[in-house]
Amino acid sequence: MVRVRFAPSPTGYLHIGNARTALFNYLFARKNNGVFVLRIENTDVERSNSRFEESIIEDLKWLGLSWDEGPDTGGPYQPYRQMDRLNLYREYANRLLSEGKAYRCWCTREEIEKRAKTGGYDNYCRNISDAQISKFQSEGRKPVLRFKVPEKEVIVKDIIRGTIRFEADSINDFVIMKSNEIPTFHFAVVIDDFEMKITHVIRGEDHLSNTPKHILIFEALGQTPPQFAHMSMTLGPDRTRLSKRHGATSVRQYRESGFLSNAMFNYLALLGWSSKDNQEIFSKQQLIQEFSLEACNKSNAIFDPAKLLWMNSQYMKMKSAKEITELSIPFLEKAGYEKSNIERHRQIIEKIVELEKEKFRILEDVPERVAPYITEDIDWNLQLLQKFGIPETSKILSEILPEIKKIEQFERSAIENIIRKFCKEKNLKTGEVFHPLRFALTGMTKGPGLFELMEILGRDVSVRRIEKFLKKSMKDDN
Ligand code: GLU
Repeated sequence: MVRVRFAPSPTGYLHIGNARTALFNYLFARKNNGVFVLRIENTDVERSNSRFEESIIEDLKWLGLSWDEGPDTGGPYQPYRQMDRLNLYREYANRLLSEGKAYRCWCTREEIEKRAKTGGYDNYCRNISDAQISKFQSEGRKPVLRFKVPEKEVIVKDIIRGTIRFEADSINDFVIMKSNEIPTFHFAVVIDDFEMKITHVIRGEDHLSNTPKHILIFEALGQTPPQFAHMSMTLGPDRTRLSKRHGATSVRQYRESGFLSNAMFNYLALLGWSSKDNQEIFSKQQLIQEFSLEACNKSNAIFDPAKLLWMNSQYMKMKSAKEITELSIPFLEKAGYEKSNIERHRQIIEKIVELEKEKFRILEDVPERVAPYITEDIDWNLQLLQKFGIPETSKILSEILPEIKKIEQFERSAIENIIRKFCKEKNLKTGEVFHPLRFALTGMTKGPGLFELMEILGRDVSVRRIEKFLKKSMKDDN
């Protein structure tokens, strides 16, 4: 039975690189009919914040990931937050201590730094006398617990990276319990992976150097370590570690600027993994079916925002106008449209989305395109009509208005016929009529095709806007 976990530290928003780790774990679990566990690693008390835990959970859900066990869902190995498991770590720590596999260390940081030659701890407290211990105690020192690293080479057999050897003397005795009796990351991770029966540890390559320590702790407990798969890192387009310098690095930022979750899901899956035939667009089910750890690349993945944007526009095209309209509502609100206005124009918005769908890349593109249709208080800048002459334009519009009111079937071709006929009868160039009309209807000099625009707005709105425009232009003229 495959059991994997994603173990974020709630010290910030969900980073793209971590989201990718979560996704690979998810795909692997689902592919193998296994269990996906979410575990919150919050032992860094100063930097951890439950606000970040909530946001990480929200963003994982938004991405379309689901887990079988976790802090919110519970499960047979709960609790799933490390700070709620302190007793467990203490029990194991005591066990290692009593078996002579760990020892108390009383050294201060300054003492360690002073003695260190090649850096790191010199295992000083391994063999101190009882008298020395009493002296440290009487000085009020609080000990940490260190793991006694055995003299042996550690071999990591990694599913993605192959066999990696770590020399015996490359690891010093390291701290497993801090003086405040909170475990270090290394200890908590191993106890939890063991207790939660994790079979595969799939995580970023930045943890590879920690893995020999973890294997040694497993062995000290008399347990076989899980299998490891260290995923390549996620880099920015300039091939340095993806960071704030590259712009948006959290899932939340992409979500808030109108990326679709299934596009993000698809894109993240292609970071460091590819199918045999280099297919790019995959449904979730296809990804689950095709994913394998063996097919993951050893080389680092480049996060390319332009490619993500392309992928997103593909997904925008695949969605129905109704879905896009629904998803755009928060973005319309953000652009300043009242909810009631949006609701009133919902059908109009849907029609425009249908017409313009091919041009959308992200949901944030929607408000700008629908603006000419749903802006109720148009602020006409009459300067823009100067070249047609304002009194002339007003005259033309007031003459065409009764014709527009008369159109029976208010649809594109009928509207076009009437307007063209009007131009002919009055001996006007089409531009002299089309342009001012579009301007009266939208306040814009460029924009959607006039007849389409009028059909979508409908007769009432079209007439109302032209009348309002005439009122304003005449007032300004006097
Ligand atoms: N909490 C660790 C991190 O956020 C993950 C540890 C692991 O996956 O083993 O980097």
